[in-house]
Amino acid sequence: VQTESAGSQTSIKVIVRIRPQNQIEMQNNYKTVVKVVDDKMLIFDPKEDQNPFFYHGVAQKGRDLLKKQNKELQFVFDKIFDVTSDNSDVFEGSTKDLICNLLDGYNCSVFAYGATGAGKTHTMLGSDEDPGITYRTVAELFSQIEKQSEQREFNLGVTYLEIYNENVQDLLHKSGPLHLRDDGRCGVIVAGLKIITIQNAEELLTLLAKGNKNRTQHPTDANEESSRSHAVFQVYINITNRLDGQVRQVKLSMIDLAGSERASATGCKGARFKEGANINKSLLALGNCINKLADGAKHITYRDSKLTRLLKDSLGGNCQTVMIANITSSSFSYEDTYNTLRYANRAKKI
Ligand code: ADP
Ligand code: MG
Repeated sequence: VQTESAGSQTSIKVIVRIRPQNQIEMQNNYKTVVKVVDDKMLIFDPKEDQNPFFYHGVAQKGRDLLKKQNKELQFVFDKIFDVTSDNSDVFEGSTKDLICNLLDGYNCSVFAYGATGAGKTHTMLGSDEDPGITYRTVAELFSQIEKQSEQREFNLGVTYLEIYNENVQDLLHKSGPLHLRDDGRCGVIVAGLKIITIQNAEELLTLLAKGNKNRTQHPTDANEESSRSHAVFQVYINITNRLDGQVRQVKLSMIDLAGSERASATGCKGARFKEGANINKSLLALGNCINKLADGAKHITYRDSKLTRLLKDSLGGNCQTVMIANITSSSFSYEDTYNTLRYANRAKKI
C-alpha cells in the first residue's frame, strides 16, 4: 500500500464526497474502484478481495478487464462523505466551522471540484428537498449574526457571477462582459458587478434561482455542456463594532467549478476546444496556486486567470479554504476519480 499522509496545516480543509452510483453505472457491471475505509481514509483501485465488494448491500461481481490496474492507493483526507451522506451532513462537516473565522474577520472560500456529473452542483445548490451548502452556510451565518447583534452590526451583500470562456458575467443582473480591475485598497474588483443586499437566507434562495436561470447553461441540465463555466457566489459582510464604530469587511466565496475533465477527453474541437482550453486555464491557474501554496512559496501567481485574480484575497494567508472533491466510485469514471483524488491530495498540503 502506498500511503499519502495528511498534512499538518489548518488553513485548508480537504473533503471528498462520493455520490451514489447512477443507473448507467449500476446497470453496466462496472467495478467499484473506491473503497471507503473510514471517515478519513479511502483506497482507490483496491486489489480484488476474495470477497466481492458490497454496494448498497449488493455484491459487485463486475469484472472490468480494461480498467483492472489495481493501483491500491491509500488516501487520507480531513473528511470523507460516503454515498449515504446528504447535504446537511456535508454542511455540518465542512463549511459550518467557517462561520466563526469569517466573523472573526478572515476571508473564506469554498470550492466544489470534480468532473462533470460528479456531484458539484448537487453539493453547492442541491434541491428543494435537500438544499445545498451555499444556502445552509448563509442560513447559519444569519443565525450567528443574530446572536451578536447587540455588539456588532452586520450588513450583507451578495454577488453571483459566472466565468465562462474567461468572460465574467453578472448572473443577478443582465450585463455585458465585466472587467476585473486592480483597486489598490480593495484588491481586485469586478467593475459594474451589482452587490445585492439581503436580510435573510430565504432571499438568497430567490437570488440563486434567478442567477441560475441566467447561466450560460442551466447548472442542473444533464447536458455535459452545463459544466463548462465556473459559478462564483460571494457574500460581502460589513461588520460595524457598535462600541467604537470601527468597520471591517470580510468575504465568503463559494464556487461551483467547471468540470475538471480534460478537454482532450471530451473530444473538443474548434470553438468547443477553446471553451475547454479556457476552463483549463482557470482550473490550471487555481491548481498552480494551490501547488505553490502547498510548497510554501512566497510568490503566488494569481494573475494567470480570471478565477485566481478574483480570489486573490481569499486563498492562502489567513484565509480559510474548504475544498470539496466530488467523485463517483464507479470504474466508469476511473481516470476522473484518480485525477480528482490526486488534485485534492495536493491541496491538502497547504
Ligand atoms: P456536476 O455539477 O458535478 O456536473 P451534478 O451535481 O449535476 O454534477 O450531479 C450529477 C447528477 O447526479 C445529478 O442528477 C445529481 O442530482 C446527481 N447527484 C449528484 N450527487 C448526488 C448525491 N450525493 N446524491 C444523490 N444524487 C446526486
Ligand atoms: Mg454542475
